[in-house]
Amino acid sequence: MQKQFKMFSLVFYYLCSFHRILLSTLMSVPLSISLAQSHLELTHHADLKVSPVHVQAHHLNAFLPKDSEPIDEGTLSLEEDVLKDEIDTDISNEISVHEHVVSKGDAFSTILHQYDVEQEDIRKLITVDTEMRNLHIGQKLAWVLNEDNKIEHLIWERSQSEKRYYDRTKEGFKVSILFRTGESYQKIMKVVVNGSFINSAKLSGLNSHEIRAVITSLQWQIDFRKLHDGDCFDILTMHATLNSVKQHSELLGVRFRNSSKDYYAIRASDGKFYDCNGSGLASGFMRFPTVRKYRVSSPFNPRRTNPVTGRIAPHKGVDFAVPIGTPVLSIGNGEVIVSTYSETAGNYIAIRHGRQYMTRYMHLKTLFVRKGQKVKRGESIALSGNTGRSTGPHIHFETWINNQAVNPMTARLPAMEKLTGKELRSYLRRVQKVLFQLHKE
Ligand SMILES: [Zn+2]
Repeated sequence: MQKQFKMFSLVFYYLCSFHRILLSTLMSVPLSISLAQSHLELTHHADLKVSPVHVQAHHLNAFLPKDSEPIDEGTLSLEEDVLKDEIDTDISNEISVHEHVVSKGDAFSTILHQYDVEQEDIRKLITVDTEMRNLHIGQKLAWVLNEDNKIEHLIWERSQSEKRYYDRTKEGFKVSILFRTGESYQKIMKVVVNGSFINSAKLSGLNSHEIRAVITSLQWQIDFRKLHDGDCFDILTMHATLNSVKQHSELLGVRFRNSSKDYYAIRASDGKFYDCNGSGLASGFMRFPTVRKYRVSSPFNPRRTNPVTGRIAPHKGVDFAVPIGTPVLSIGNGEVIVSTYSETAGNYIAIRHGRQYMTRYMHLKTLFVRKGQKVKRGESIALSGNTGRSTGPHIHFETWINNQAVNPMTARLPAMEKLTGKELRSYLRRVQKVLFQLHKE
């Protein structure tokens, strides 16, 4: 058993971060999960067997909200166009990072072979840097595969002070060698938009972690789906190592330029992004989609069980008991992405706020906004009603963060913020330094 555990730890160590998170989540679930004995190898597919859990019927009732309405609205699936636009889709093709520490008997080609990397990529890499034939024990390799299982980037950490980067180009790979003196360094990258932002950024050498950071930092100022060719990003990142492990780069600041204006997002020591004057970039959200707070008739419950079928029918939002004809307000600035009728949700509206947030409002009587329309925080978008599968007047309200339904009553929503006092002074000093870097051509 101990041996098995050790093997599992190894597998765990080499899994890409996503799998690691997924596994950690699985393992923290207090169900009995047993490892399949026969398939435990150093691969990315550790088979997990989940034992069924037997719950007594009377225990199920404990999960049911007391004044639960018919289990209906939770079944409205998200149309592809609601959540997934090209940016989401491209980003969610999350490429995996693989790591390997060179041990006795390892050769460059055998290391990559066991991860299913194509022979052709291995050949190209060795051609571009013949020293790759001489790996030493303890050196580290890390690489990122693209959707075609080809190497997109490879890092060869030859020593504490030398790293070689190999980035895929049309012909083969471009090598850059970095000699590190300190523990961290800064890097400026430039992305000139040509077609989609994601592709342009990838071609400029940004990884998906960095792309996501740029999108998040500027999400309240620009619409990444509506960029023009020639629009330009200057990106300043900090790269650091900790106990000789390379950390994810940290975005320090971005400057975005289009034909008419410059936009900035600069990170403060609290990890949030502000403009050059220390004002927060998010406009802030309201907690409730109505002027005053109404009684919650059915809470958010991702594990709500249908009392009739016994199946899980998640309640992905919160229901407010609201009289018909009450003005329904957008809880934040955003763009209407759905305004339509559906059999289950009745008249309903979905609004996208920045890149990470979305809200939905259901069972409405009258819709005031069209798809594509921009709305402001607090703007009246509809009158509440009792349309679709609903047994009484109410608003079913949902909040989504990064394509995941969250509890609207407790969700961490951006607040309108401004730095003041000592924080502001230290931030403004930081801004000067970052701007200096960002304006270097
Ligand atoms: Zn509901």
